[in-house]
Amino acid sequence: MAQRIFSGIQPSGEVHIGNYVGALRNWARLMSQDDCVYALVDYHAITIPYEPAEMQHRLGEAAVAVLAAGVDPARAILFVQSEVPEHTELAWILGTLTTIGALERMTQYKEKAEQQQNQVLGLFAYPVLQAADILLYKGEVVPVGEDQVQHLELSREIARKFNAAFGPVFPEPQHLLTQTPRIMGVDGKTKMSKSRGNTIAMLDTPAASWEKLRTAVTDENRKRRSDPGNPDVCNVFTMHKAFSPAADIARVDRECRSAEIGCVDCKKLLHQHMTAELDPVRERADTLVRHPERVREILADGARRALAIARPVMAEVRQAMGLRAGNGAGAL
Ligand code: ADP
Repeated sequence: MAQRIFSGIQPSGEVHIGNYVGALRNWARLMSQDDCVYALVDYHAITIPYEPAEMQHRLGEAAVAVLAAGVDPARAILFVQSEVPEHTELAWILGTLTTIGALERMTQYKEKAEQQQNQVLGLFAYPVLQAADILLYKGEVVPVGEDQVQHLELSREIARKFNAAFGPVFPEPQHLLTQTPRIMGVDGKTKMSKSRGNTIAMLDTPAASWEKLRTAVTDENRKRRSDPGNPDVCNVFTMHKAFSPAADIARVDRECRSAEIGCVDCKKLLHQHMTAELDPVRERADTLVRHPERVREILADGARRALAIARPVMAEVRQAMGLRAGNGAGAL
């Protein structure tokens, strides 16, 4: 039987190759056999400072990126989170089942909070909204990068608590990782992330991506061309695993260790494979950018289809909890 897939991406900047190989590639692959719901999660993106005048543009960019990466709106639902108010409604409810201690353990919160002076509740409660996003669609499988595994564990815990208290409403969602669930930034120090300025954009021209790749940090212990390298600690090798055919991955692995291949040639080979895969993605994006009305239609249709799933689930939740139906009729 088809499984319900749910996942989301923040409209918080240019989609990068980490998003692509860690998540979006799976979003596109899963469409053939499963029932997929994909969200542009603007309510998550506002948990860090942002420019309101840019939000609609960012949403458009994110939609184009997801579609260009291969998500087919005829089969998958693609929508903007804030079109479906039930997300925040369910988040409130799930917040009553989530302990502060559990949220304090979230490493992503700890990392992001370090960058904020006055830490806000929204950033702290982010994983509760994420659990609501998934459970509102009774999501069973969640294709994400490794940074989200801890949040998914929390989503399962919340689903279990809800079911134990109010009856079996929610499945326990499982994460689904790709072969390369974590790509480091070109700085080689932190996760590649939209908010860190250390990315290679999925839609960069070959010239732009080469410029970033050329200067990307590799195994820092390999100082001279003649030094043997260690692919296990080299982010460029991780990228090879994401983009290159098996024979070239094996070759780079071997020839880096024996110093037969230098970092520049290794990067050139990677760049060839990367552009071979991303050229058609960029071409699809270029076409979509020329047809913004088409993108608007896709998102409007997606919102209607998402609401059609979310509303009955929310009604089920209210009923299970002994709350009012919320239809303004004063009825239970
Ligand atoms: P970002 O951290 O760049 O803002 P999002 O939070 O919007 O990205 O995440 C969108 C998806 O991309 C998530 O499934 C996330 O796990 C995945 N992802 C983000 N960064 C990486 C990365 N560096 N490597 C692999 N997957 C990633």
